[in-house]
Amino acid sequence: MKCPSCHFSETKVLDSRSVSDGLAIRRRRECLKCGFRFSTYEEVEILNLTVIKRNGGKDNYSREKLESGLKKALEKRPVTGDEFKKLIGNIERDIQIRGKDEIKTSDIGEIVMKRLKKLDEVAYIRFASVYQSFRDAETFHKEINKLLREGGKKKGKFRNKISKKTAKLTKR
Ligand SMILES: [Zn+2]
Repeated sequence: MKCPSCHFSETKVLDSRSVSDGLAIRRRRECLKCGFRFSTYEEVEILNLTVIKRNGGKDNYSREKLESGLKKALEKRPVTGDEFKKLIGNIERDIQIRGKDEIKTSDIGEIVMKRLKKLDEVAYIRFASVYQSFRDAETFHKEINKLLREGGKKKGKFRNKISKKTAKLTKR
């Protein structure tokens, strides 16, 4: 890593800190020539992962695509930037654990939903309603009802939110 200030190639690490639940590491560095201090952020990169689309076409895995889909689902939800990074990290880790070079869009969808459900139920419903894994209305309603039962036990307020959301979705 070259110094961003003078481009000298040797730097020393002042401090290393694990971030995003151990999925990334931040290092504070100092240039050995000019003393300039800067930080680097290292995380696991998913390389050579091919995504098989519904129509059979292939595409390279793109974190940006995953992020933009999740940002839509999480719009105006109380999720911090760090929680978001952790979510992405966990999803990518689940993908990597499979140990395969190819993954179907539907498999990514399942992984995303599993992780999203743990983080924010409203975002989960949003994502699931857009994502076509609920192949038919019946499966979708079963899932909503299951959430309503779980949500009703935990927090009464949540029930109202979901009911409104369900009403909107069923109108379509
Ligand atoms: Zn320097």
